[in-house]
Amino acid sequence: MSEQMSMSNSSDVEVELLAIGAGPSNLGLAVALEELAPDLAENTLLIDRNQTIEWQQGMLMPWATSQVSFLKDLVTQRDPTSKFSFLNHLFETGRLDEFVNMSTFTPYRVEFAKYLRWVAESLTKVRIELGRECVSVQPKRDEFGAVSGWITTLADGSTITSRYLVYGGSREPNIPPVLAGVSPNRIVHSTSYRQRVAELSGELPYRVAVVGSSQSAAEIFRALRDDLPDSDVTWLMRSIGLSSDESSKFTNELYYPSFVDEFYDARPTARDQILREMHRTNYSVVTPPMLEHLYADLYLDRFNGRNERRLITMVDITGAREAGDEVVLELTDRRTGTVTELHRDLVFLGTGFDTQMPRLVRELAGSLELDRIAVSRNYRLQIDTAGTVGSTAACYLQGVNEETHGISDSLLSVLAQRAEEICRDIIAHRERIPAVAVSAEEPAGL
Ligand SMILES: Cc1cc2nc3c(=O)[nH]c(=O)nc-3n(C[C@H](O)[C@H](O)[C@H](O)COP(=O)(O)OP(=O)(O)OC[C@H]3O[C@@H](n4cnc5c(N)ncnc54)[C@H](O)[C@@H]3O)c2cc1C
Repeated sequence: MSEQMSMSNSSDVEVELLAIGAGPSNLGLAVALEELAPDLAENTLLIDRNQTIEWQQGMLMPWATSQVSFLKDLVTQRDPTSKFSFLNHLFETGRLDEFVNMSTFTPYRVEFAKYLRWVAESLTKVRIELGRECVSVQPKRDEFGAVSGWITTLADGSTITSRYLVYGGSREPNIPPVLAGVSPNRIVHSTSYRQRVAELSGELPYRVAVVGSSQSAAEIFRALRDDLPDSDVTWLMRSIGLSSDESSKFTNELYYPSFVDEFYDARPTARDQILREMHRTNYSVVTPPMLEHLYADLYLDRFNGRNERRLITMVDITGAREAGDEVVLELTDRRTGTVTELHRDLVFLGTGFDTQMPRLVRELAGSLELDRIAVSRNYRLQIDTAGTVGSTAACYLQGVNEETHGISDSLLSVLAQRAEEICRDIIAHRERIPAVAVSAEEPAGL
């Protein structure tokens, strides 16, 4: 572990910029800071609740690949000459020839995770602390009530005060309300698939349900064949069957970083239309290679007279209860209205992410007494709308602005450029608004 990266447990510190979440968004920001605002980078802290830098750890199946080009790494679309590119990572780690020989644009997810770790270890100014979970953020106000900083509280009770805050903690898992009352140890959301399945015995014949028709549900269904080979797996979905994503090179242009301006400036009705028509380029769909793979597996199951794995389409889970050692799912057939029961040990969810803002952000908005959570084109939370003006602090949200910045917001597609936009907005903010001490006792070293 480099000097820049540690599992520190220091309490009550002060930095100029705190970034929450060391995923691609904030790692991209860290690189942009080192390259565009080195003095700010020196006083930036990046924290993550995980003990290591990963990429979608719960779904890091050894065979899973990225769905976008490696050119959509943390820097290339912002600055193809940056030393933090995926290609330079391959070069520096002696893997360039092999990657070139694979003739692919879509690296394995585990390779991309390794790239993220390499970036984190290569940073020389931004400090990273792992194993640090943020549990709340409160605004710090000056004597006139204007916001002059942020007080971030971590799970161990320590606090970090900062003038700038960037949330990059991603969206929260979507647990369908009908399952909300089922004990968490019987429910496995895709975000924790790998960790949870590692705790189970691969030998046991579990009775399992997989829920959803997304790529994540498909990957779970495929992975269970290896991870719990003796299990009985029923895959439940509301749709008529699995479909491939509806993207084309034409609609893929709407994932360009340059499209964010057009989307942001569009009328509300146009934004709705774009999100509606683009929905099935990213959500509730499965990649064509995965569909082929799954179908071939099921074809061979049928050929071999095996029926431990099956799909049930056009079904709603209309009830769920725990009885003894099992979960009883009430299933309503959408075609006939017939209600049946399915008895399972575990329910795996490929049900995606909550579309509302994450809890941390909602609670912060509550403390700021905001009527609504709105961000500027440069991702800055609009905080001077609630009776107080003259804030000298700023907070940015990454990866949770699909409604205003378009469907690419939660993906890798725009994050290199977005990092620069946030970085430049902070630089301009610092120049425009005089530095103030975020703590009464000690200046923040702005
Ligand atoms: C299975 C899967 C596969 C995907 N594949 C692709 C793909 O191929 N291409 C693509 O463009 N997009 C893909 N995505 C979309 C994905 O959101 C982006 O690729 C990318 O991970 C977004 O980066 P991020 O940093 O915003 O969020 P994340 O990668 O989710 O990182 C958020 C980080 O914040 C940390 N964190 C969260 N809350 C806290 C807290 N309270 N305190 C401290 N740390 C916290 C988390 O531990 C995590 O490390 C995929 C998503 C999933 C779920």
